[in-house]
Amino acid sequence: MRIVLLGPPGAGKGTQAVTLAKALKLAHIATGDIMRAAVAGGTTLGLKAKGYMDKGELVPDALVIDLIKERLSQTDAKSGFVLDGFPRTVEQAKALKVLLTSLNLQLDRVLDLRVPEKELIDRIVKRGQAGSGRSDDNLEVINKRLQVYHAQTAPVVQFYEQQGGLTPIDGTGSPDDVQGRLLKALGH
Ligand code: AMP
Repeated sequence: MRIVLLGPPGAGKGTQAVTLAKALKLAHIATGDIMRAAVAGGTTLGLKAKGYMDKGELVPDALVIDLIKERLSQTDAKSGFVLDGFPRTVEQAKALKVLLTSLNLQLDRVLDLRVPEKELIDRIVKRGQAGSGRSDDNLEVINKRLQVYHAQTAPVVQFYEQQGGLTPIDGTGSPDDVQGRLLKALGH
């Protein structure tokens, strides 16, 4: 099964995607995690991505699309995946479609986690205070990330709605509640 999990920063995408991938035995592919590892490892990708990530801006499409192309070609992704944090622009969503079509594949489900804005900010601030270790979990950068989400990623929701396949999921409540809703939406 090939799943995209959408949602604004702080909606719980990361937590939910990890649990969902485990439950369904799928590869968990998170572009943010891959790029944080690249930054920590001081790779060329990391050096290019760091400035954007620290400011809460999106890393250029070309870099992220190349990264996803390579990641999706790895063996563990062949039997299915949960994409977390990608696509984040309509350009990326279109590139994903072209890529999957070239592999004779398609997405099975696009799930969109929905959480009220006020709760998003509270959650990310708490995550930073609890020691997420993420340099972008502070109020200034969070506001920027939310602005970027509205300007560049919200259109991805519309893109998939127009393609006829997006399921909104209530992202409020406990992580277990949300996981239950995701699994139910997937017919489990
Ligand atoms: P995340 O861990 O998904 O919240 O991503 C953290 C940061 O990594 C984002 O604020 C962006 O700077 C960058 N990033 C992650 N995924 C993408 C993507 N698909 N496109 C562009 N930038 C991304």
